[in-house]
Amino acid sequence: MIPSSLLIFDFDGVIVDGLNEYWWSARKASIKLLGGTSNNADLPYSVPQTFRELRPWVHHGWEMVLIASEMLRPESLLRLKGAKAFACNYHTNCQEALKAWELTSTQLQTALEDVRHAAIEKDAEHWLALHQPFPGLVKRLNQLPHEGLDWAVLTTKKSDFAIELLKCFHLKPNLVLGHDSGSKPEILLQLNANQTIRGFIEDRRATLETVLETPELKSIPCYLASWGYLKPNDKKALPPGIHLLEPETLASPLANWP
Ligand SMILES: [Mg+2]
Repeated sequence: MIPSSLLIFDFDGVIVDGLNEYWWSARKASIKLLGGTSNNADLPYSVPQTFRELRPWVHHGWEMVLIASEMLRPESLLRLKGAKAFACNYHTNCQEALKAWELTSTQLQTALEDVRHAAIEKDAEHWLALHQPFPGLVKRLNQLPHEGLDWAVLTTKKSDFAIELLKCFHLKPNLVLGHDSGSKPEILLQLNANQTIRGFIEDRRATLETVLETPELKSIPCYLASWGYLKPNDKKALPPGIHLLEPETLASPLANWP
């Protein structure tokens, strides 16, 4: 049997622009979780600039709930020094903030997923409308089978939510794998054992760097999506092995990609 050729796409920041939903659900989860302990009703309805600025640093959904909560804590670094200072030592600052709230990442993640499940149950149309695919993505993804390519979605979201959105956009990937299936490098290792992976398209540079540094994954061409949630310096001095993918290149046949 000839192994199939597979292109793998990250979801948020590559296929879907969900910034409005990230804020909407993070705000709601924060309010639900903190209850009466904070002035959380004061969080604005529209996406605050601080949240927008920090989105490129976010790896897991729970961090967005934490950022919303930190916007309320009077003594938080985020309030005192702003988004740039928080981003400087992002990981450490998230851990400090968890300690200050006496919460775990699991509690925050569960609160976020509860909000999303409730939203899909009560008013799916509104929830879906908070997302949109990036321009040209739906058309391009639907062309892939005609090029003899299978494609998969690999996301740090729970797979249910990605599946709902893909259905809404009329997209039919061969596979959808969420955080419930393991970390991205773990999943890539499993997929790579049985198939030829022709490319991995991501907007988180650190994830691509991890793939590059994993000897068993060296054969996978890595692409940084130029249209995604990138940090200010992400496009600069990319290591050989990570190619910047512009929308025009994405739109062209895979044979033309770097
Ligand atoms: Mg992403």
